[in-house]
Amino acid sequence: MRIGVDLDGVVANFTKGWTTQYEAEFGKKILEKDITEWGLSKPLTHFEEEINFWKWAKNINGSSIFRNLDIYEDSLEILYDLSKMGHEIVIISSKPWWSIHDTLMWLGEKKIPTKEIHFIEDKWKIDCDVYIDDAPYQLDNYVKNLKNKVIIRFVREYNDPVTGVLDLNEWKDLIPLLNSL
Ligand SMILES: [Mg+2]
Repeated sequence: MRIGVDLDGVVANFTKGWTTQYEAEFGKKILEKDITEWGLSKPLTHFEEEINFWKWAKNINGSSIFRNLDIYEDSLEILYDLSKMGHEIVIISSKPWWSIHDTLMWLGEKKIPTKEIHFIEDKWKIDCDVYIDDAPYQLDNYVKNLKNKVIIRFVREYNDPVTGVLDLNEWKDLIPLLNSL
């Protein structure tokens, strides 16, 4: 199978990365459970508009917020297991253009087992059998544009169940979930 895997909120812990930096810089602690909606401007942060958040995130001590993100527990091991089983890991990310070099370094450093990386907003245009994402609008786009594909929501505080989409709570549940199809 070709398995389309999103990065932020799925493999890369973007939430921990930016909230840690935000607290260090602005003194406000934001917990994962506080992030119940998609969006990073007010009232979650002090930024008036999303664009202001991204201007900040673009340059943190000389690199972007995407340069130094932690990897979610078990994700690397499961991606390796899937690769060894013969599946193809296809990275599909919609990150901003200015984060791409940081992201490529990150993928290399973390030794993510992939031979195919896409940076694209219309993720559904990349042909896969299974797609894993956390963004509500991307899950909607997959459902709207694809038939007979397996779409998986990585369950986070800021997303909700979507009709036609399977739920995944932890990486270690992924292989049993795929085996059950
Ligand atoms: Mg994501």
